[in-house]
Amino acid sequence: MSVPRRPLIAGNWKMNGLRADGGSLASGLSDLMKNKTDAVFDLAVCPPFTLIAAVGDALAGSAISLGAQDCHPAENGAYTGDVSAAMLADLGCDFVIVGHSERRTNHEETDTAVQAKAAAVQAQGMAAIICIGETEEQRDGGKTLDVVKSQLAGSVPEPSAAANTVIAYEPIWAIGTGRTPSTDEVREVHALIRAELTAALGAEEAVGVRVLYGGSMNPENAGDLLALEDVDGGLIGGASLTAEDFWAIAQSCV
Ligand code: PEP
Repeated sequence: MSVPRRPLIAGNWKMNGLRADGGSLASGLSDLMKNKTDAVFDLAVCPPFTLIAAVGDALAGSAISLGAQDCHPAENGAYTGDVSAAMLADLGCDFVIVGHSERRTNHEETDTAVQAKAAAVQAQGMAAIICIGETEEQRDGGKTLDVVKSQLAGSVPEPSAAANTVIAYEPIWAIGTGRTPSTDEVREVHALIRAELTAALGAEEAVGVRVLYGGSMNPENAGDLLALEDVDGGLIGGASLTAEDFWAIAQSCV
């Protein structure tokens, strides 16, 4: 069955880049995208908060979307150091990553907290890229499917729709390590995610939700991963920091 999902290749720059780096990376990507009139993928970059405005300027006129890496669930108020979804929408963001494993681990974010952030993102008319994934211990203990199922149930707001929801399956042990699950393992988890989304949102919405794979995706392995059924793009960390690698990954979309 053919499905109405256009692959999304999203770059998570994490805490990297000063203004000059962010500007030139974004302009390089913007030039590549402007010359690619037949792109079969959507491209997005999620710079650190400090670079969002400058990167947005550098991307002006290109089809590349702007995103952020986190937000606070409240619209405004006494939350020193935090940034709200409304502020990100105001800067022109279309996507906000929530529940990345580095936030879940370093900031003790629970599924409930992630769900509240995702709901705030959706309420501002943006799409939440909701990250889920197992630890190495959980994978070795045969708990991957249970963990993913439970994170999905706890982190995706109700109601959610295809237009405001992206799921990123990111095995924690694969992030930044150069290791990836086998294609069979990725296929199995993505099929489970699709089935769970179908049960939660109904078939009509679930069929349109993009489910990304993330974790050490690079130009060499992207083709195999992106060709899998139910893998609708990638969330890319390290390899999104050079235009050449990020673009090569996007070119692997079929
Ligand atoms: C990430 O942190 O979202 C990620 C996928 O990182 P990397 O590509 O570096 O493994």
